[in-house]
This record gives sequence, structure tokens and C-alpha cells, in this order.
Amino acid sequence: MNEASWLSQTRAYLLDLDGTLFRGKEVIPDAPAFIEWLTSTGRQYLYVTNNSSRTQEQVAEHLRHLGIPAEAEHVVTPSMVAANYITEQPNGGRRVFVVGEEGLRTALLAAGCELVDRFESGVDYVVQGIDRGFTYEKLKTASLLIQGGATYIATNADKALPTEEGLLPGAGSIGAAIRTASRTEPVVMGKPEARMIDYALHLLGVTREQAVVVGDNLETDILAGVHADVRSVLVLTGFNRREDIPLAVAQPTLVTETLTELMQIANGQR
Ligand SMILES: [Mg+2]
Repeated sequence: MNEASWLSQTRAYLLDLDGTLFRGKEVIPDAPAFIEWLTSTGRQYLYVTNNSSRTQEQVAEHLRHLGIPAEAEHVVTPSMVAANYITEQPNGGRRVFVVGEEGLRTALLAAGCELVDRFESGVDYVVQGIDRGFTYEKLKTASLLIQGGATYIATNADKALPTEEGLLPGAGSIGAAIRTASRTEPVVMGKPEARMIDYALHLLGVTREQAVVVGDNLETDILAGVHADVRSVLVLTGFNRREDIPLAVAQPTLVTETLTELMQIANGQR
């Protein structure tokens, strides 16, 4: 199958955000037109982000602020995947100690979880994302709860967040402290795990064959596609360069310079 034939038939786009639609505070110039093309041609899409700190509405608001059409229901966060994971467990436990921010708390509460804020018995889960108010006390509580039998869930394992200040500690760096203290590995929700992609496919009601993961990062976006057995497109507008591809564990199905090039291939114009 040549590249145009599968892509022209792809109905559902699972889109990364940073490096794909915007870079920090700047929109990638062809991103708004790309989203309008998806809508006008009847394609489905979701914004699939590893950001656990923001709510769906906050992510959508940020996109709209950059000129990219977005509603809350277009957004999938790892906090939602964590909440869904908890509700699917057969034991029914929903008492959760959170190491995280508003996006994570909101998603867990929406799923009917009961949030506890100190060490107590009967806590079913420790759910951890990025937490810019992380303290020794939280590390201690999380570690004791996990050692006492609570299941440890991490929203994502990103070690660092690229910012104008440089690389700042991400959820994976906080997770490293909890893993070390509790001697327990978390169940991880976000990219590159398949769970996040599976959840997005479920929300859209499409098959693996009908979808594509689009992103700028070989180790998160493209590897998530490989793990979930969904085709992927690496766009070279963000983190990875063309010379990184041969060295990567996960190979994208297609590589494009821009979203416009991707759209043209899907339209059979290239
Ligand atoms: Mg990215």
C-alpha cells in the first residue's frame, strides 16, 4: 500500500500538542488550517496530551487562545485515562491519594473517586502526575500507602518538561522519587503506553486500522502508536529531527515536514 492510500482512508487523528500544533507559546502556522481541514472533510480527531496538570477545558482554552479550534470533549489527558482505569478495576475501590494538580483531581472526582489527603487505612490507589507543590510529606505518604498495598498509578513518565527556562522536572522525575522510596513500579497511563491510545480509540468508536497517531516525538507519540498497533506520522516541527529516525526503537509509518504536507498526502496531492 502506498502512503497516500492508507492515509486517504484514515478517519481518526490522534494529535499530539506541543511540537505538533504549537511550540511553547507559539502556534505552528499551519495548525489551525489543518484542524479546519479535518473538520471540513468529516475526519474525527482528538488532542492527546501527556499533560496531567490541566483539565480538558483548560487544554481546549489554551488551544483556542492560540487560534486552534478546540472544545473540551476533543481533549484526552492521562488524568482521564487514570480515572477510567480505576473505574474499570473489578475490585471497585475508589479511595485515592493524589500527588498532582487540578487536572488530575478534576478527572478523578468526575469518575467518582474519593480523594484523601493524608495517610489512612483503606486507600486503594496512589495516583501521581506532575505536582509543582511536591513535598517530602507527600513523598512519605505516597510511599507508605504503596508499601501498605495501594496500587501506584502514574499519569505519565516524562522526565522533563521543555520550557524557556530549560528542562524542568516532569512527572517522571517525581515518579522516580516515589519508585525509589516505595520500591514499586507504577502502572503508567500516558504515551508511550498503549492505554492512552486505546482509550482515545474507544472514545471515538474507531478501530486501530481507521486511526493515526500524529506527533513530533519518536519516544512518546510514535512509540505509543507502535505499542497500540496504530499507524503513525512523525512531523518534523518539534522535538525529533530526520537524523534521529534510524536510531529510534519505534519507526513511524510516515514522516512529513509539516501538517500541510501530511494533509496534501492524505488528499492525494503528493
Ligand atoms: Mg510533542
